[in-house]
Amino acid sequence: ADIIVAIDGPAGSGKSSVSKAAARRLGFDYLDTGAAYRALAWYVLDRGIAPDNSDAVLASLGAFDYSISIDPSEPVVMVGDADVTDAIREPRVSSVVSAIARVPEVRTFVTGIFRSTIDAAPHPGIVVEGRDITTVVAPDADARILLTAAEEVRMARRSAELTTESAADVGEQLRSRDRADSRVVDFLTAADGVVTVDSTHLDFDQTVDAVLEVIAR
Ligand code: C5P
Repeated sequence: ADIIVAIDGPAGSGKSSVSKAAARRLGFDYLDTGAAYRALAWYVLDRGIAPDNSDAVLASLGAFDYSISIDPSEPVVMVGDADVTDAIREPRVSSVVSAIARVPEVRTFVTGIFRSTIDAAPHPGIVVEGRDITTVVAPDADARILLTAAEEVRMARRSAELTTESAADVGEQLRSRDRADSRVVDFLTAADGVVTVDSTHLDFDQTVDAVLEVIAR
């Protein structure tokens, strides 16, 4: 891809849906980087490896056969022959993914995958979304955005998406994942040159428009 749009933000900021919508509007590809960390977490659990055993996690990377579609309308995540698109969103995966993502060698490994995916993307541009895209994965991106929203709003939006868990549980899970993740990557402050879009008082369409406006600058 020639044009790279980097979008970072915390859990529940609406990053994924907003990034997908922006990519569709622009005819761009879309890369969800959190999906790779989630898929690795799913794989580690599937292999019976303890997620906090970083040596065992690293030893498993060689056989981790990961692929993701970059079509913003149809994101499919595969590990080997298993379609894990839905499974990687389960709470059992969310609750261990931070332990996997904090291992530096894991980050280097998946960052390599992200960069090749970005290079090989066929459309004129790609929207890449995660926690360290504006700072580590693609610091030279053409547009760099931090998407934020007040914590109460993020929790409310996330509980509206999930019907099986209570709002309190969702809130606690988001908070603890953000706490763990922010020790590894600072995704709550905009780095130099990164534009903050705060969606606290915006609805979905307004947020997409705000993001498109930053991209058009
Ligand atoms: O974006 P999502 O919530 O699906 O990300 C899942 C997890 O993957 C995060 O909680 C974080 O631990 C990790 N992650 C990361 N760096 C990224 C994207 C995700 O560490 N760029």
